[in-house]
Amino acid sequence: VAARLKAVGEVGTGNTDAAGSRILVFVRLRPMSRKEKEAGSRSCVKIVNKKDVYLTEFASETDYLRLKRVRGRHFCFDSSFPDTTTQAEVYSTTTSDLVEGVLQGRNGTVFCYGATGAGKTYTMLGTMENPGVMVLAIKDLFAKVRQRSHEGNHSIQLSYLEVYNETVRDLLSPGRPLLLREDKQGTVAAGLTHYRAYSTDEVMKLLQQGNQNRTTEPTRVNETSSRSHAILQVIVEYRSMDGGSIVTRVGKLSLIDLAGSERALATDQRTQRSIEGANINRSLLALSSCINALVEGKKHIPYRNSKLTQLLKDSLGGSCNTVMIANISPSNLSFGETQNTLHWADRAKEIKTKALTTANEEVLKVSDCETDQAKLVLELQKE
Ligand code: ADP
Ligand code: MG
Repeated sequence: VAARLKAVGEVGTGNTDAAGSRILVFVRLRPMSRKEKEAGSRSCVKIVNKKDVYLTEFASETDYLRLKRVRGRHFCFDSSFPDTTTQAEVYSTTTSDLVEGVLQGRNGTVFCYGATGAGKTYTMLGTMENPGVMVLAIKDLFAKVRQRSHEGNHSIQLSYLEVYNETVRDLLSPGRPLLLREDKQGTVAAGLTHYRAYSTDEVMKLLQQGNQNRTTEPTRVNETSSRSHAILQVIVEYRSMDGGSIVTRVGKLSLIDLAGSERALATDQRTQRSIEGANINRSLLALSSCINALVEGKKHIPYRNSKLTQLLKDSLGGSCNTVMIANISPSNLSFGETQNTLHWADRAKEIKTKALTTANEEVLKVSDCETDQAKLVLELQKE
């Protein structure tokens, strides 16, 4: 444990500084649900020191003190959030630094991973009363941009899509599946709508509507099991005048609510849903393969194996700031899933990202006589 803590301490809490930094991994434990209580379940997760997670089938203090020494049942993350953690705390610990990075022109990605019902959508989208990371990030972006309005011109655009059954769909403007193609910004979904956003309320409504459009299917495991991966992308473009040049910075924030990580085998194998399950596993499997390849420092990362990983090519490893939030239930009835999620998250900690060198910044020289503020305004208005 001490060695682990030391290792974590050495890496520090930000992944933007040193060479060979890595993905930040967090765990969020949700409260026991009424359904779980009614089923007579006991808590099998204990979070200590805001970092250490003890997974045990026993509930008493002495039991997990004893189990501390059992390998594979103790995990340590950058932060682990107990069930009393607020949405604002989760946002500020996991995502606010990434938002600052995006304003500086560095891409950032936040994933929520975990079994169905573990709290991914609550963490990402949340409710009207308790908005989640997606909404708080955009709110923060608006506030920061407002504070810096005298420095230059920002535009914020968002898109929201799902990958379901290896098909990509626009959640803000549902219709035919979208094709993926490569362009100089990476893999893009052709024809995806980009909304220019102006207020937080508008964004919340837009996202809730988008979520209604997500494909959900009843399964034997859970009636509202979501088998789709939802990806919110926020593109922030900043333009300003620096000496005789127009500086353009583009930062992309991707916030991803992954489909349930439970195995397809847990549902009925002979139905259509098991085929869909296989596809979800294909995307999650591909994500895991990419993570493994990144961990091992392989040259070839198999991004092309699924739609999800194709879309995330520039958002995983590399010089992108990446954060993983693993969601877990406290109930012993979900012991197996929780264990899988914690192992997956533990593996993700090993991904090294490149040292950050440059942001996505473009500097356009403007001739000396054009360096005044009025010219900049004209330039910006032309866009
Ligand atoms: P998932 O998206 O992983 O399938 P949800 O986010 O839909 O799971 O969560 C399942 C249920 O638990 C929802 O009713 C949700 O409101 C509730 N829930 C999840 N996390 C929390 C939390 N941290 N605090 C309170 N309720 C939560
Ligand atoms: Mg969900």
